[in-house]
Amino acid sequence: MRTKVAIIGAGPAGLLLGQLLHGYGIDNVILERHTGEYVLGRIRAGLLEEGTVALLDEVGAGARAHREGLVHGGIELAFAGGRHRIDLKGATGKTVMIYGQTEVTLDLMNARRAAGLTTIYEAENVQPLDFDIDRPRVGYVRDGVAGEIACDFIAGCDGFHGVSRASVKPAAIQTFERIYPFGWLGILSDTPPVSHELIYSNHERGFALCTMRSTRRSRYYLQCPLDDQIDRWPDDRFWDELKRRLDTEAADKLVTGPSIEKSIAPLRSFVAEPMRFGRMFLAGDAAHIVPPTGAKGLNLAASDAHYLAVALREYYDDRSAAGIDHYSDKALARVWKAVRFSWWMTSMLHKFPDTGTFGARIQLAELDYVTHSKAAMSSLAENYVGLPF
Ligand SMILES: Cc1cc2nc3c(=O)[nH]c(=O)nc-3n(C[C@H](O)[C@H](O)[C@H](O)COP(=O)(O)OP(=O)(O)OC[C@H]3O[C@@H](n4cnc5c(N)ncnc54)[C@H](O)[C@@H]3O)c2cc1C
Repeated sequence: MRTKVAIIGAGPAGLLLGQLLHGYGIDNVILERHTGEYVLGRIRAGLLEEGTVALLDEVGAGARAHREGLVHGGIELAFAGGRHRIDLKGATGKTVMIYGQTEVTLDLMNARRAAGLTTIYEAENVQPLDFDIDRPRVGYVRDGVAGEIACDFIAGCDGFHGVSRASVKPAAIQTFERIYPFGWLGILSDTPPVSHELIYSNHERGFALCTMRSTRRSRYYLQCPLDDQIDRWPDDRFWDELKRRLDTEAADKLVTGPSIEKSIAPLRSFVAEPMRFGRMFLAGDAAHIVPPTGAKGLNLAASDAHYLAVALREYYDDRSAAGIDHYSDKALARVWKAVRFSWWMTSMLHKFPDTGTFGARIQLAELDYVTHSKAAMSSLAENYVGLPF
C-alpha cells in the first residue's frame, strides 16, 4: 500500500489530521491498534476551545457539536467557603463548549467513513521505519498477516504510550517532565450537573471539579493519592467526599446517583522536543501531556493537527519545505504556553503534600487576587478559552 501520509493512531489528533489533509487533497491512511468501539469507549476530555470547534467545522464534522454541545461563558472558582465567577466571555469575547471527546471522535470517524478514507483498525506491531531517510514506511500486522505502507511522511498521533516517540533515537530527543504527587478520581453519572458552569474547588481536603457532558450527564473529580484504588471508592463515599469539598449551596444542590464510569488518572506535565524527526512528526499526546486542570490536552491535539496539516499542504501545493521545517517550533511555542497554564492552574488549586500551611495561604492569596483583579482574571480567561493559532 502507498499513501502520502501514514498516520499512526485514531485518537482526536490522528482523526482530525486525516480529515484536514483529506480536505487539502492529501491522501492518508490511519493505523490504529484498537477497534473503533474501544477508542470510542474511552472517557476522557470534555471541553473544547472555539478554535477546536472551528477545526471540526472546517472538516464538516462540527454540526452535532453545535446542536448538542453546551456553550459556557464562564467558570467558577470555589475557595474559603465561597464561589467566584470568572467571566470568560466578558474578558475575552470567547466561550468554551462542553462536548465529550467520545462525541468528537465519533463525529470524526463518521466523517472519515463518509469520505471513504482507509483506517486499519486492530493493527498490531505498528512500526515507523526509515523516517530518517527519504523513504519512510510503516510496518504492521493485521489478522496475523504482515503489511507495510510506503509513504512520504509519518504522523505519530499515537498518544503518550505510542510507538512513534519510542522509535526515535534517544540522542535525537529531549524530554521535560513533572509528575504531580496526586491523581484524579473521576466518575460519570446520569444526574443533572450541580451547576450550569464548571466549579473548580480549592479545599483543605483536596481539589474537586464539577463538570459535565450534557444537561443530564455529570462528570465529577476528586484529588486522590497516587496509590489510591477504585475499589476503595464506592459511590456513597465519593459523593460524601465531594460534598465536603464544595460550598454549602453546591453541596445541598448536588444530585447523586449511581456511577456509570469510575477511574483514577495520574497527573503529569510532559513535553518532548523536537516534534519532527526527519520525515516523521509527532502530534498530540505523543509529544506532550498536560494535567487536565486547564482542559488543554484535547485542544492541543487539535492545534497540532492544524499546524501539521497546513505545513503539509504548503509542501504539496507550493513545493516548499518551509512549513514542515517550522512545524516543531510553531507547535511547541503554543504547547509550552498551555503546559505553563495547566501547571499554574494545578498548582493554585490542589493540596500539595510538601508545601504545608504556607503553601495553602499562598494559594488563597492567589485565588483572591485572580478573582478580584481585572488583569489577573483576564489572563486566566485568555488562556482558558485558548490562545490563538
Ligand atoms: C484518563 C484520561 C482523562 C483525560 N481527561 C482529560 C480532560 O478532562 N480534559 C482534557 O483536556 N484532556 C483530558 N485528557 C487528555 C486528552 O484526552 C488527550 O490529550 C487526547 O486524547 C489526546 O489525543 P491524541 O489523539 O493525541 O491521543 P490519544 O487520544 O491517546 O490517541 C492515540 C491513539 O493512538 C493509538 N495507539 C497507541 N499506540 C499505538 C500503536 N502502537 N499503534 C497504533 N495505534 C496506537 C491509541 O489506541 C489511541 O487511539 C485525558 C486523558 C486521559 C488518559
